[in-house]
Amino acid sequence: MVSDTPAIRTRHLTVSYGLRPALLDVSLDIPTGALVGVLGPNGAGKSTFIKALMGFVKKDVGSVEILGLPAEKAKGRVAYVPQRSSVDWDFPITVEEVALMGRYGLIPWYRNPGKKDREAAAKALQAVRMEGFSKRQIGALSGGQQQRVFMARALCQGARILLLDEPFAGVDAVTERAILDVLREARQQGLTLVVVHHDLATAPDYFDHIALIKQRLVAFGPPEEVLTEALLSEVYEGQMQGFARMRTPP
Ligand code: ADP
Ligand code: MG
Repeated sequence: MVSDTPAIRTRHLTVSYGLRPALLDVSLDIPTGALVGVLGPNGAGKSTFIKALMGFVKKDVGSVEILGLPAEKAKGRVAYVPQRSSVDWDFPITVEEVALMGRYGLIPWYRNPGKKDREAAAKALQAVRMEGFSKRQIGALSGGQQQRVFMARALCQGARILLLDEPFAGVDAVTERAILDVLREARQQGLTLVVVHHDLATAPDYFDHIALIKQRLVAFGPPEEVLTEALLSEVYEGQMQGFARMRTPP
């Protein structure tokens, strides 16, 4: 889907914890329908960037627009898939209930989820191929399955933009492939996806845009323009574990 209005537009986005800026002066336009990888070394501000887009952390200065609207006016349009390590997996809740949580913003406070909500949850679980697990406790799933349930919650919400923080961390290769397939299908349906990723070797295959972050936005564009030796050595210094394995772009 081609559109002139970017899915996400930031201008001079700056976030500090205490006195130290974690993110400094980030201005970028993420086109609608893009599958964006957010890369950068540990502590570069990748998670902070995602949280700032969601309004989970306070901005020092700067602005975030979602689909042409100030972020506060576009709340339901963006969904956040949390980093696995930030979720309490012992919480007694089923797969179906997690997916249904995506509907809460759409259900009036005086009403319980109804048939329509359950149908939406079932459809979202189908989209991530988790329909056979709806009564399972969320803690009794593999990492990749949990990730897909949280993607279902996001889809169920009717979001047009998904923000994912390291969805591939700690999952096996088969699961990584399954999650990637879900991301690609979502993009085919016109969704915009912004994904924090730590593996330089797979990034050029997975993403059509790369945002390279180290406190500031170092570069944003197609992988072959951003993942250059010069930019990577500037950003990663000694930490270039994936780089030697990275294939040369065609
Ligand atoms: P990344 O996701 O790229 O590893 P983060 O966005 O988590 O980086 O963190 C960026 C910087 O902000 C790091 O120096 C980190 O230690 C710091 N930071 C992150 N969250 C907090 C917090 N809640 N309080 C204080 N400092 C934080
Ligand atoms: Mg992080």
